[in-house]
Amino acid sequence: MTDHAQLLLVEDDENLSLLLRRRLERAGYVVRTAGTIAEARAAARVMPWDLVLLDRGLPDGDGFELCRELRAASPHGYIILLTGESSDEAKLDGFRSGADDYVTKPFLHEELFARIRAGIRIVTLQRALLESNRRLEELSLTDGLTALRNRRAFDEELAAAHELARRYDRPLSLAIIDVDHFKGMNDTHGHAAGDAVLRAVAQLIAGSTRATDFVARIGGEEFAVLLPETGLFDAMQFAEKIRASVAAATIRTGEVAHRITVSVGIASEPHTSITNATCLFEAADQALYRAKQNGRNRVELERRRAPRKVAAAARPLQIATS
Ligand SMILES: [Mg+2]
Repeated sequence: MTDHAQLLLVEDDENLSLLLRRRLERAGYVVRTAGTIAEARAAARVMPWDLVLLDRGLPDGDGFELCRELRAASPHGYIILLTGESSDEAKLDGFRSGADDYVTKPFLHEELFARIRAGIRIVTLQRALLESNRRLEELSLTDGLTALRNRRAFDEELAAAHELARRYDRPLSLAIIDVDHFKGMNDTHGHAAGDAVLRAVAQLIAGSTRATDFVARIGGEEFAVLLPETGLFDAMQFAEKIRASVAAATIRTGEVAHRITVSVGIASEPHTSITNATCLFEAADQALYRAKQNGRNRVELERRRAPRKVAAAARPLQIATS
């Protein structure tokens, strides 16, 4: 566990620093030394330290000050204060400045090393926990079949993208893509073939998008692409490119060569009647419904309405009749 753990030793007593460094390196730690606060600051900036051994009395200031800085910059690093001050008040001040442990000089080397091992154990566990949480979070947002983002991730992204577009008055488009006659294909060729088709379509869609677009599988055979900074016309061209690339592809599963098509519904903001993320989704969904109704393997756009004009026309009429 001590393998390659990175220690920063901040100590102005050169003899003590040299002695500790040798022993720590012999124990398998990677050690960097600093004799002043300035040197320690510079070292901490370039070195991803796991544990700091920090002397209080330093030529250019109070080690407790540096302790506060290091703690603010690295909430998960381990800091052991190493000082000649053994008063309760000094110890409490040390802990208040963010230290995890406090060792008073003179000290038993065995005890210091035991405390360092305990510190590294905590840092290692914390890191494993953070990494495992990150992986779980990633998994909970990923579609297992296609490795695209899933519905949950899409819902979060849709809400965030809508907020951003509205706040900065930027365009945002949404394409919902549905594989045509998927159920029939699944029934005829089996679920394994269906899964392979979904993976292939996912790849074709992902291959047509830009780095800033957000692609998700949001249902059985339904995909969505969020296109930030993209108006209706460009979204339509994008959708047409996807439709054509799927229609042109031959997807092979075993001996069978599948010819697949998709229908696409598109909606865009800004729009007079799209006031929230749900509206945008529903508008694209209705467009998709029309693409299905109108024969599939096609792209349909949301229907634009102009409610303001209707309201303006109604007003003079009321005045005239009253
Ligand atoms: Mg000192």
